[in-house]
Amino acid sequence: MHKGSCLCGQVQYEIDESLGPIVFCHCSVCRKSTGSAHQAVTRIPSAAFRITRGQDVLREYRHEPAHHRYFCGNCGSGIYARRDSKPEMVIVRLGTVDTPVDQEIAAHIFVDSKASWDHIPDDAPKFPEWPPSS
Ligand SMILES: [Zn+2]
Ligand SMILES: [Zn+2]
Repeated sequence: MHKGSCLCGQVQYEIDESLGPIVFCHCSVCRKSTGSAHQAVTRIPSAAFRITRGQDVLREYRHEPAHHRYFCGNCGSGIYARRDSKPEMVIVRLGTVDTPVDQEIAAHIFVDSKASWDHIPDDAPKFPEWPPSS
């Protein structure tokens, strides 16, 4: 069981399961979305994810029509995303998880399009785009 929240605390959520693999995505969309070198995410079953506070504050942005990104309308924290092609999963932004996470990074993805100034310091597997399993 995990809990998470946005920067201002108006949006809070719970996860009924352990987290999926931790993935750092270095693609240009994730860089714009976070304002940083990459986005840290984990996939969990939709049924295990619950917004417990601030549903009315959540805003949705679609960079692609079938990819829904949800963020706090007050402070701007990205909370989670889902794809129409995979309704059974949600992609949670790891930086908003408040409970201890005892996993290591599983993979770096979209490394071929990472920023020139982005130097990956760990030895986790790196994939040019999506990993073969996705
Ligand atoms: Zn907020
Ligand atoms: Zn990305």
